[in-house]
Amino acid sequence: MSAPRVLIAGAGPVGLTAGLALRGAGCAVEIFDSRCEGEGDGDPRAIALAHGSALILDRLDVALPESAAPIQRIEISQQHGFGRAGIDAAAHQLGALGHVVRLGELTRVLRHKCQATGMLLRFGARLPDEPEDEVALVVHAEGSTGDCVVVRDYGQTAVVTEARSDRAPAHTAFERFTPAGPLALLPMGTGHSVVWCVKPERADELCTCSEAAFIAALDTATRFAGITWRSIGTRTAYALKLSRRTQSDADRQVWIGNAAQTLHPVAGQGLNLGLRDAYELGAALADGVNEAQLSRWRARRRKDRDAIVRLTDGYVSLFSNDLGLLRIGRGLGLTMLDTLPPLKGLVARHMMFGAR
Ligand SMILES: Cc1cc2nc3c(=O)[nH]c(=O)nc-3n(C[C@H](O)[C@H](O)[C@H](O)COP(=O)(O)OP(=O)(O)OC[C@H]3O[C@@H](n4cnc5c(N)ncnc54)[C@H](O)[C@@H]3O)c2cc1C
Repeated sequence: MSAPRVLIAGAGPVGLTAGLALRGAGCAVEIFDSRCEGEGDGDPRAIALAHGSALILDRLDVALPESAAPIQRIEISQQHGFGRAGIDAAAHQLGALGHVVRLGELTRVLRHKCQATGMLLRFGARLPDEPEDEVALVVHAEGSTGDCVVVRDYGQTAVVTEARSDRAPAHTAFERFTPAGPLALLPMGTGHSVVWCVKPERADELCTCSEAAFIAALDTATRFAGITWRSIGTRTAYALKLSRRTQSDADRQVWIGNAAQTLHPVAGQGLNLGLRDAYELGAALADGVNEAQLSRWRARRRKDRDAIVRLTDGYVSLFSNDLGLLRIGRGLGLTMLDTLPPLKGLVARHMMFGAR
């Protein structure tokens, strides 16, 4: 019997991971991407890749990019309020809670792995309008597309850059909640990747001001961590929205990664969720591609997706304000998180493996 033929639209990190997982499940995979080969390799975003995602890549025999930096500790705090929580990899008998990787580098590594297996990758090409009957499955991994409906416009923009400092603690990530939005510092080699969520007007200022003015503003915003910055890289802005695909999946078609939902980057969940979509699709179809297996996969994925959407959306609503009572509640919550090991274990498991 010939291998079931699967077409994937989108050679981003999620589409490529799905390609490897489905190939491992015995499918004949072809991937189409509307961009030219390597066009996304310069994507400046640094991604917090959870421990669970690193395990997925390891099972697919994909090595992390050489520049991947381990996260051994995460410190969570809020501006204008008490409460601080720290989560350590060592407390969970792990070397790292996750790794920071440049999105462009990860995509390149995945693409080369797919090419090394002999998989057919077509760049500057879209899916055929009418895939032939013998196609067993079409996987949509085109990223945020017009098919998704905006559920919430957060009125926040993420300003992303890489900042270097002489004294930033290596291997420690920081998540600082402020009324305007969260500020994340992810350890990377000699510095940190900065994901600074602010009001759109402030983002314009931060992207156009001089490097010295940006560094001064960042010094002030990160005083809580005791870091002073020396230099920064290119600044890029991303408008933040929660959007979801609302139509039900069609026969022999599935939507994964950002083609299914786009999240706020708080807690770094979007790509991790997409990698689970991709890997579990391969696992579900190992015994054949049929609607019964696809519906089981859809039901399982819905639980994880709904939980992660609630989690990230909840964090933004709960923390992006300066209401006195909520500030006290958040402070108590952070203190409890820091002092109650079972609660800390639960949050750490969510960060590393998603909702199970
Ligand atoms: C500021 C910021 C920080 C983030 N930080 C994190 C983090 O720390 N951790 C985390 O897990 N996630 C994070 N995310 C989310 C993460 O970046 C995305 O979830 C992830 O990149 C989505 O990958 P994807 O492969 O689904 O889509 P994409 O990376 O968008 O890839 C889609 C691919 O499809 C191609 N394509 C588009 N249309 C077509 C078509 N019609 N036919 C064929 N090909 C097509 C595109 O060219 C592209 O190559 C962050 C997001 C932002 C904005």
